[in-house]
Amino acid sequence: MTPDEWDLRQAVIDTARAMAAAGLNHGTSGNVSARHGDGFLITPSGVPNEALRVGDIVAMSADGTAPAGARPSSEWRFHRDIYAARPEVGAIVHAHPTYATAFAICREDLPAAHYMIAATGGPTIRCSAYATFGTQALSDAALAALDGRLACLLANHGLIALGPTLARALWLAVEVEVLARQYAVARTLGTPVILGDDEIAVNVEKFRSYGLRPAQQPE
Ligand code: 13P
Ligand code: ZN
Repeated sequence: MTPDEWDLRQAVIDTARAMAAAGLNHGTSGNVSARHGDGFLITPSGVPNEALRVGDIVAMSADGTAPAGARPSSEWRFHRDIYAARPEVGAIVHAHPTYATAFAICREDLPAAHYMIAATGGPTIRCSAYATFGTQALSDAALAALDGRLACLLANHGLIALGPTLARALWLAVEVEVLARQYAVARTLGTPVILGDDEIAVNVEKFRSYGLRPAQQPE
């Protein structure tokens, strides 16, 4: 294993632990991957975040082949298919945080209740069709919901967030959960006013030059 691969494996572990620390995941829920060469590095299936070791991270090829005996995340299919379909994506995080998942249970898209939704690339965060975890059907549903976007909800399951780097994908996952929480609270207080598509399009443009650029960010 090269030093670069070692470092990226450690960054995948750090991201999985950061998701737990941020309250986005608990136990063995969720998974993380980073593009590596022609393939990707992904968390193993069913291993608690605190127990993860560098050697547990699974190196998969672009077609989803893993070394003999390896146990990649059960969701390796959507990680593989997103890297194949979206060349701009360098990292993927998947989580089951409470508010985003609650909307996914209601099978609701998140609307543009706050301008920050523009960070996900459009005026809604779509909720996918339902499919059983770990299936090709779930991967197909996720890719459809992610079309033109950097995040989606998975029906009765959780969320996926994408980014050029692990840090950026993690940031977006936290942001999606905050958006879901803000919208949920607003609905208990009154009738949320939803921003129009034109206003979100302006904000999507502004986000292209907002904050740290990928080249300035840590892996
Ligand atoms: P894995 O432990 O297999 O990654 O599964 C967790 C999960 O969130 C499945 O959707
Ligand atoms: Zn899951």
